[in-house]
Amino acid sequence: MREKLVYVFGGGRADGDATMKNLLGGKGANLAEMARLGVPVPPGFTITTEVCTHFYARGRAYPDGLKAEVAAALTGVEREMKMGFGDPDRPLLVSIRSGARKSMPGMMETVLNVGLCSRTIPGLVKLTDNPRFVYDAYRRLIMMYSDVVMEKAAGVEPAEGQGIRQQLDRMLDGVKKARGCASDADLSEADLQDLVKRFKAKIVEVLGQEFPDDAQEQLWGAIGAVFSSWNGRRAISYRRIEGIPHEWGTAVTVQAMVFGNMGDSSATGVAFSRNPATGENRFYGEWLPNAQGEDVVAGIRTPNPLNDATKSEQNRHLPSLESAMTEVYARLDGIRGELEAHFHDMQDIEFTIQDGRLWMLQCRVGKRTGTAALNIAMDMLEEKLIDEREVVRRVTPAQLDELLHPIVDPQAEKSAQPLASGLPAGPGGATGQIVFTAAAAVEWAAQGKPVILVREETNPEDVEGMRAAEGILTARGGMTSHAALVARGWGKCCIVGCAGLHVDVHARTLTVDGKVLKEGDPVTLNGTRGRVYAGRLGMVSAAENPRFVAFMQIVDRHRRLGVRTNAETPEDALKARGFGAEGIGLFRTEHMFYGKDSEKPLFLLRRMIVSASVAERRAALDELYPYVKKDIKDTMAVMDGLPVTFRLLDPPLHEFVPKGAKERASLAKALGITAAELDQRAEALHESNPMMGHRGVRLGVTYPEITEMQVRAILESAVELTREGKRALPEIMVPVVATVTELDHQKVVVDRVHAEVCAAHGVAKVDFLYGTMIEIPRAALTADHIARTAQFFSFGTNDLTQMTFGFSRDDIGGFVPAYVEQKLLPVDPFQMLDVDGVGQLVRMACELGRRTNPHLHLGICGEHGGEPNSVAFCHRVGLDYVSCSPFRVPIARLAAAQAALEDAAG
Ligand code: ADP
Ligand code: MG
Ligand code: MG
Repeated sequence: MREKLVYVFGGGRADGDATMKNLLGGKGANLAEMARLGVPVPPGFTITTEVCTHFYARGRAYPDGLKAEVAAALTGVEREMKMGFGDPDRPLLVSIRSGARKSMPGMMETVLNVGLCSRTIPGLVKLTDNPRFVYDAYRRLIMMYSDVVMEKAAGVEPAEGQGIRQQLDRMLDGVKKARGCASDADLSEADLQDLVKRFKAKIVEVLGQEFPDDAQEQLWGAIGAVFSSWNGRRAISYRRIEGIPHEWGTAVTVQAMVFGNMGDSSATGVAFSRNPATGENRFYGEWLPNAQGEDVVAGIRTPNPLNDATKSEQNRHLPSLESAMTEVYARLDGIRGELEAHFHDMQDIEFTIQDGRLWMLQCRVGKRTGTAALNIAMDMLEEKLIDEREVVRRVTPAQLDELLHPIVDPQAEKSAQPLASGLPAGPGGATGQIVFTAAAAVEWAAQGKPVILVREETNPEDVEGMRAAEGILTARGGMTSHAALVARGWGKCCIVGCAGLHVDVHARTLTVDGKVLKEGDPVTLNGTRGRVYAGRLGMVSAAENPRFVAFMQIVDRHRRLGVRTNAETPEDALKARGFGAEGIGLFRTEHMFYGKDSEKPLFLLRRMIVSASVAERRAALDELYPYVKKDIKDTMAVMDGLPVTFRLLDPPLHEFVPKGAKERASLAKALGITAAELDQRAEALHESNPMMGHRGVRLGVTYPEITEMQVRAILESAVELTREGKRALPEIMVPVVATVTELDHQKVVVDRVHAEVCAAHGVAKVDFLYGTMIEIPRAALTADHIARTAQFFSFGTNDLTQMTFGFSRDDIGGFVPAYVEQKLLPVDPFQMLDVDGVGQLVRMACELGRRTNPHLHLGICGEHGGEPNSVAFCHRVGLDYVSCSPFRVPIARLAAAQAALEDAAG
């Protein structure tokens, strides 16, 4: 641990800077940076994340010297502010703020107005001449402190709805009702004084403790509670979802308070330097007069728009900051420009105006939707704020994925009447059944039912339910409300501030315009436009955006790794070409025996399988041939000029043996045998471990005529396509190979068919590559031998993972989740390539293979080929290409470019 535990900022100087996020948390580091920039920031200091780590490692004890460092830093703040903490005449108040390396919005705690007590209240009243303000600040301190410090950090677990915060909130609501006030800003000093008394009594009643009446006690209580909030339940659950390590810890920032609740020339607000939903280059935000920070985000009052240009249907009638405080707005807009010029990215900022004076309280890189990420990156390139490389880095694979996500079918939407409209907080479309609690969302989603979570407003306790839902709909809150922030971070469809909704959680109903929807009723959300529809509307793809195309061109300029697709029909091949696939890395022959139009070929395949003699089998194969050839030829025709890797028949044959009596009877008839005989033949095909049974190349060894038929279909298609003026580049891939001898055995068959096809068509040769999948550990271990015969390797990492771990792919549901939960494995290795184990085999096979065959072509065709981290690994080990499903192709292209840039950066 470093010696220095506390870093000060303010008055144009700071110990820390923006690069020190690991130590100071994102908030502390950026406050320091803003102070250095000369942006007005209330002075303060940050206690490092190392102190948090120490706190947890040592049974919640602070390192030696912390108290002294805090005291010294606080003295500095007092000097800067010309006030004293706990001073009866000029009392300084502070906020105690959390801040992790990565922002965890609303997941940890903040306590404002710390330092108000009976010794300091009269002084502050005198100083401000504003007793209403002082008691408003005090009641807020009591509400936050009792909740964060006295209840949550103390580990008190109240019954549902009985948390101290909720109880005090109800008392506040009661007074507002009694006085007929719409907003808490309308309560009088006397109301607040009375409320404060009753709050304190309530705290004693509920928590059995006095509210602390000493500034220092409050300070240390709040610091400890913020450290404790790192391990609060919702913070832990958020970290689990976001993959943030539990070891990081939070920093604690103690900062002089500035007050947005001093009257109508005071205000607080939240803004984005550009629109976080669309990316539009317009200052975008929300503010409230006479309010304190939390108010805007919590959705307590409907916030006002920042400027006139960005008003929405919902807030058109409300005053903008631009018109209400023109000069302050101009200053804020200037700071917006300074921050963007400095950070070269869209900023999410928090500000407070105290009596006409602007203060910045936070800035960070703003979360955004995929659409906004794309638009902002492309705009900033044009504005010369960033270069092409940075453009590539600015859109995450997940955001790109979101861009490729469905939107509500515009045709269907045209003819539908919206039920209600709200703020478009999270993009895309979603349709599902409505539920009213996070728990229900989780439960229904686990049963495979798509749900829309409907809430009055969300709070951090709802996170897991929001995650599970297809879309989120709230009646209250603005574009910076909790729901909006979280949904945007995930790229999830979300509509907030849908004022027409009346949500009744207990009755589980949603009432709009007199219409009542019950739990389970379907609705559709258009999160891009903020429209809600009853019932289910269709969805369509969103990838036709020309900006997307331009972005992908930049991406392609920066990658080395090729990207192919896994496809076995001309339609999929065409779709994948549209997404930028540079070939097919995996064409699974057996796919023509499943699904649409498969009846006849499947019947013939079955006939082939249950054949008892070579003659019977050949007859069946001859009839099957035209079907196999048609799919092969049509797909190669679409991929004209691009390589297509055909995997020879792979699955265990018994998978195709008919189970039903009727099917067996017609098969027996076709073969001219009795039903009993057919049953016998089918029985003989039974295997106790088919995954490791008679499949893949083993079929080709025992029944070479199966290989022969497929190879003939491939080579004849190639010859015919060449005659038709197309370029066919077939690659023949042998699956489930463990030894080079298997590959050599099949090569004899391939060479013979090649000679026959050449003779039959009068050509000298047909161009093709001959290679294998590497999916059995033994193949990887003997890759140098295999590469003598193979011209290419394609890593079948699904099976390679299965066989390396000894985890049955089809049975992992029973234990892998527990492994991940208990951290025995960081992630499901079938989703993200296990670099340490399976990856070692891949790396070794590449090296060994290239040693004997320097021209060996290398690719991957497992599911991992479309997973960004795995793609990065493939880049690092020097594969030539990855292959993935058509929809993942753009994501793989982006991941490949980002891996190349990372590589170049060292
Ligand atoms: P979070 O991480 O949840 O955003 P913050 O620490 O940013 O929590 O605090 C929440 C809000 O409290 C801020 O948006 C700001 O408006 C208000 N706040 C925090 N510190 C101060 C301060 N020193 N003066 C005035 N308001 C503050
Ligand atoms: Mg904040
Ligand atoms: Mg396989």
